[in-house]
Amino acid sequence: MQVKTRFAPSPTGYLHVGGARTALFSWLYARHCGGRFVLRIEDTDRERSTQSAIDAIIESMKWLKLNWDEGPFYQTKRFDRYREVIQKLLDEGKAYKCWCTKERLEKLREEQMKQGLKPRYDGHCRDCQTGHSPDEPYVIRFKNPTEGTVSFNDAVKGKVEFKNSELDDFIIQRTDGTPTYNFCVVVDDIDMGITHVIRGDDHVNNTPRQINLYHALGAKVPEFCHLAMILGDDGTKLSKRHGAVSVMQYREDGYLPDALVNYLVRLGWSHGDQEIFSRDEMIRDFTLEAITKSASGFNTKKLDWLNAHYMKTLPADEVGEELLWHLKRQGVEDPSKGPAAALVVKAYAERTHTLKEMAQKALCYYKDFEGYDPKAVKKWIKDGSVEILQSAYDLLSSAKNWESAELDKALEALASEKGVGMGAVGQPLRIALTGSSVSPGIGDTLVLCGRDRALLRIQKAITEFSRK
Ligand code: GLU
Repeated sequence: MQVKTRFAPSPTGYLHVGGARTALFSWLYARHCGGRFVLRIEDTDRERSTQSAIDAIIESMKWLKLNWDEGPFYQTKRFDRYREVIQKLLDEGKAYKCWCTKERLEKLREEQMKQGLKPRYDGHCRDCQTGHSPDEPYVIRFKNPTEGTVSFNDAVKGKVEFKNSELDDFIIQRTDGTPTYNFCVVVDDIDMGITHVIRGDDHVNNTPRQINLYHALGAKVPEFCHLAMILGDDGTKLSKRHGAVSVMQYREDGYLPDALVNYLVRLGWSHGDQEIFSRDEMIRDFTLEAITKSASGFNTKKLDWLNAHYMKTLPADEVGEELLWHLKRQGVEDPSKGPAAALVVKAYAERTHTLKEMAQKALCYYKDFEGYDPKAVKKWIKDGSVEILQSAYDLLSSAKNWESAELDKALEALASEKGVGMGAVGQPLRIALTGSSVSPGIGDTLVLCGRDRALLRIQKAITEFSRK
């Protein structure tokens, strides 16, 4: 049997961390088994679904590099198929039309509540299909078995059992003719050959209804795996209150996709006490058995730690790609006019915590900065600084190789020739080159600026500071 999993988001908002974790686990399981992964957009709720949410989901999945083998499928494009299956159920007497009015259902609900019963449809129309005119609005309900139990062996929760007497005849088609979630999801999972349904445990209560539908349609029931929810640092359900919850917000905040994926895989899954997993390791080691039963807590510090790790250890080219995205967001129109992004990554990975911060610090290598940091100027620009800058300029303008170690050496020689410490040379230069006195080694800073830009800036600083 070829394993086939799916991620089936409803596009009613951005992709949040919980959804991304579900997507990741489904993707990992398919990859672990050498199976296939399907992306399906569950957009039947037309009022709440939006194109921008669809775009955000797809963008997030791509950014996380959770590639799918089939899809994206859209439920709204499959209405003919749903209609066909509903007709089949009607023809076989496994579904029926229900004309009960809102008022009747409301009254029924109130009475049941008064008696301390769980509100459920009483099957009024189940055996009474006559006496209605064709233009009277109706819904279509599934004939749920009235006796016995329905159970499944959840990969995380173990055996889960429901009494059929607790389930009612749920609606599969609304009065406006559109099919409902519980129905479409089953038709889709059957048609798409899904073998493992991995999803959030907010769907556990839907599963017995769906299983009854599988039986009615004569289809094989897939394996189910319901993931426990993610909690915020304070133990309550993760929500906006806890800060960033949308995947793209993490991107904007400067996290790497590999850091977020590594963070997410440990939310409810473990492999010994290992914390850092390459994608290959995750795929190799991921099993449904090792998913934890209890809810997992979000921990921003750990995510930060992983992000720092990946900024330092991933190939600089790869991190550089992500840095380019941030540079553009911060107004760099043409990054090719500055240093290669990988160079910035090498110089700044140890000095910054996020790529957003790295981009902020590196902006000065791509476009002119506004003014010098007054504190830095006060501290470092002294009598004699202009003269040192001038000597540095002369030295640098005749440098044969614009290479970090060589430039460092030449400037060290200049400092000893002038009988001053390296700070008295390096700091005025840093201020001239970047506007601030904090930057990587002076040789690296010069390389990042590039020869022309560096010499121009030193000249400008000489003019500026001569006036003081
Ligand atoms: N569309 C559902 C949701 O976004 C998921 C359905 C499923 O995974 O079965 O919650």
